[in-house]
Amino acid sequence: MEDVIIIGTGCAGWTAAIYTARANLNPLVISGTLPGGQLGTTTEVENFPGFPEGVMGPELMNRMQQQAERFGTRLEYVQINSLEKNEDGTFTLKADGTEFQAKTVIVATGASPRHLGLPNEKELIGKGLTSCATCDGAFYRDVPVAVIGGGDSAAEEATFLTRFASKVYLIHRRDELRASKIMADRVLANEKVEPVWNTVVTEYLTNEKGEMRAVKTKNTETGEEGEIELECVFVAIGHIPNTSFLEGTGIELDDEGYIVQQNSGAGTNIEGLFAAGDVADHVYRQAITAAGNGCQAALEAERYLAEREG
Ligand code: NAP
Repeated sequence: MEDVIIIGTGCAGWTAAIYTARANLNPLVISGTLPGGQLGTTTEVENFPGFPEGVMGPELMNRMQQQAERFGTRLEYVQINSLEKNEDGTFTLKADGTEFQAKTVIVATGASPRHLGLPNEKELIGKGLTSCATCDGAFYRDVPVAVIGGGDSAAEEATFLTRFASKVYLIHRRDELRASKIMADRVLANEKVEPVWNTVVTEYLTNEKGEMRAVKTKNTETGEEGEIELECVFVAIGHIPNTSFLEGTGIELDDEGYIVQQNSGAGTNIEGLFAAGDVADHVYRQAITAAGNGCQAALEAERYLAEREG
């Protein structure tokens, strides 16, 4: 029986691990499918305190992992498929071919990239459709690409892609970016970036090999349709919280599927089950807020165990 199982290896998960490990709770961290969370696939992080020159996302995550492991955190590379609360108040977590028992669980599973929901999306992943510029950008040298979205992710991805692509169309459904001013100014000042305002993508068009060759577009103001030739589309239209494995637990989720936290902390409506980071936050969604929330979850789990075990 584990004292604490932490699901997720983003900022929230590793911070919860550092705190629970230092409290001698010997945490077990479960990695899931995207080790390192969203920062594991990003480029430079300029706003994490303590790094005046900035730090690469994967490096920051490696450092958090090393810090957690220094105090005895253990890591398992499996995907949790379901979670159940037992009659004695403990939890059973099932993964393919294995299961774990824990007195407390911290869910720090983050959120995954949202897609548009167009028909041939699944077949196009890896053939000119992706959500990760740092993973796939270098494959598209000297060819036109597009980024869809208007937030910080879209601005960051578009700026990064100008290192490789001949041109980066930034397709946004409105006529101004949601991104923070510094990132919006930077991307719009880049001469390789061509903003395509008030426009949605209605179809992905493929060549004879089934690879992306163009997108069909529609102007949201005029209804005018068009086509943009390109070789890759980077979708950056936000995220969906990773909570599907919690189905049937009775955990309270909000309208968008994020876990509802109790009393401004990291507790949930299920005693002993805590949530931290982007899986429970559709407001701030920053590395530093996820880390802070991971700390809250760890402290609350520690208190819960102390009270329960007298
Ligand atoms: P976001 O801020 O939610 O922006 C999503 C963008 O996609 C919005 O511009 C939205 O348009 C657009 N969109 C949503 N659904 C769409 C659809 N179906 N079709 C077309 N467009 C659609 O998401 P994000 O950019 O991933 O950022 C998430 C959080 O991470 C934010 O808090 C952001 O500040 C943070 N972040 C920070 C950094 C950094 O500081 N280095 C980098 C990346 C992300 P509307 O504007 O019209 O709603």
